[in-house]
Formats: sequence, structure tokens, C-alpha cells
Amino acid sequence: VKAVWFADGAVEVRDVPDPAPDSGDALVRVTRAGICGTDLALLEGYADFSGIPGHEFVGVVEQCPNEPDWEGRRVTAEINVGCGRCSWCERGVREHCEARAVVGLRGRPGAFASHVTVPVANLHPIPDGLEDDQAVFAEPMAAAFEILEQINIEPATRVAVVGDGKLGLVITMVLSFAGHRPTVFGRHSGKLELASHFGGLQPGDSGNDAFDVVIEATGRSSGIADALRRVRPRGTVVLKTTLPQSVDVDLTRVVVDEIRLVGSRCGPFPRALEALGSGRLEPKVLVEGVYPLSRAVDAFEHARSPGALKVLLDPSR
Ligand SMILES: [Zn+2]
Ligand SMILES: [Zn+2]
Repeated sequence: VKAVWFADGAVEVRDVPDPAPDSGDALVRVTRAGICGTDLALLEGYADFSGIPGHEFVGVVEQCPNEPDWEGRRVTAEINVGCGRCSWCERGVREHCEARAVVGLRGRPGAFASHVTVPVANLHPIPDGLEDDQAVFAEPMAAAFEILEQINIEPATRVAVVGDGKLGLVITMVLSFAGHRPTVFGRHSGKLELASHFGGLQPGDSGNDAFDVVIEATGRSSGIADALRRVRPRGTVVLKTTLPQSVDVDLTRVVVDEIRLVGSRCGPFPRALEALGSGRLEPKVLVEGVYPLSRAVDAFEHARSPGALKVLLDPSR
């Protein structure tokens, strides 16, 4: 089968052996996969990755030896695969299992391929009528919902999102869906307009006060300093960017102003799929291009271009 392969900062399309699902796995034929900032970070050296990336996807189950009822169903899947034995796994928190594999990121081939295998326990059915170009946002949308699981945002809470790229816009969409009006800071007037379309406020609309909660979603190393600048004393900064390198930040501000820093990664798929299934969210307006696997090199070039929004791969073409 064909797959995208990352090695030494280069993208290529390779023939790889057919994936062979273990007894607890499902073999999924991928119909859409999304390129995200983390994939671009991998390409720049984050996590010393080489192999098949891709962790945002939709597909159809082709084989599922242990639970054949899944066969033929349209699915997406959670990406953390726990060891099944440690205290985290026992509590059902496989995303913090120390021995975990992560589809397309660590120890398991990803979804930028015609097929991917995932444990049956990770599968989620796609609601009927939800098109692939929307459903492929389940993973990043779940990661955005994670913020609402971690911190309490009241109607009066002043929330800012720093970053108007695809991640910042998905977070804006999810916060608006939950009834909030985040102020969105960014560098591109076109994208800030999109943010308004999704229910975000423009910086000028929300006064000059510092924010109670600032969500950093810039994808850049300067993002955390930007976020710290906008939070009030005793406020909360939520960090969403994963970077290939460490950053230099002045933490004195955090101490003196008693700021709470919250790291935030993967989130609840059921909540994301329910929100997508409601039809009230339109993440597919973020899609700028859909490329067949054979044009993966062009797809990554597009995704890396300054200001690019969502680029998808369609391995079925
Ligand atoms: Zn991602
Ligand atoms: Zn474990």
C-alpha cells in the first residue's frame, strides 16, 4: 500500500507492506486525513520522528476480527494506545500511559496512508450525514473541547485566543459553540474575519482589560510570551502549541502575578462528534485543499506555506 513517509525533514510517498491488524485492532481504509501543526513540527524535528505520520482521519473499517460489527462502518479514532496494565490505563486515561504508543506520532504508523490500524477500543462511529470533510476535524476539535474539561469558563469570563491559524480558529469555534465569545488575536485580517464568522470578537471590540483566560494557539515559539502579556494577575494561560524546540520565557511574571499555566493536549471525541453532528459547526470552511496521496509533497508544501489553513489528504483517490 502507499503511504507518506517522513525521514530527515523530507516528505516522500512510499510503498509499504500491507498493515496487518492484531486481534484487537481494526483495519481502516482512510478516506480523509488532516495535516496539522504537529505534523509540520515532526517534519522540523520534533520527537525525532521518522515513519508514517497522520493522526487526524476518517475512514471505513475493512477488517475487525474481534468485533466484526464494526466492518463497513465509517469511523474516526482516538490516537493514544495505552499498555493496558499501568495505573493510568486502569483509570482509562491512556493518553498519559508512559508506555503509550500514539498513532502517527509515536510507535504506531499513522493515517497518511491508504490504510491504518487502530485498536477497536479507540474507534468512534461518525454520525450519519456528517461529511468526511467535517468529521476529519474530530481530533483537533476534541483537543479544543479539552480546554473546557480542564478549566471553568463562566459566562462573564473574559477569554482570549492568541493565534488565528487553524488551531486558534477551531478553538474559537468550540468556545462559541459552548456559548462564549473569545477575543481572537492574530496577524491576518482575513483569518480574523473568519474568527468573527465563528463567533469570535475582534481585539478592538472587547476593551483593553487583561483577560481572565488566555489560550495560546499560535504554533510559534513567541506565542507563550504573547499569551502572558494578555492575562490578568491570577488569570489562566492554556498552552496548546507543541514546538520542536524549547523556548525561553520570563517566568517571573508567572510568579509575581500568580498566573496559572495549563498544558492541554488530547480531548473527548464523543463531545466533538456530538458537536459536529449537531450541524452547528462548519470547520470545513477552513479546508484550503484536498490532495491525493500521490501529491503529498505538494500538500505539505501547501500546509507549510505562511498563513495556510487546513490541508487534507484523500488516500482513496
Ligand atoms: Zn494534530
Ligand atoms: Zn498504560
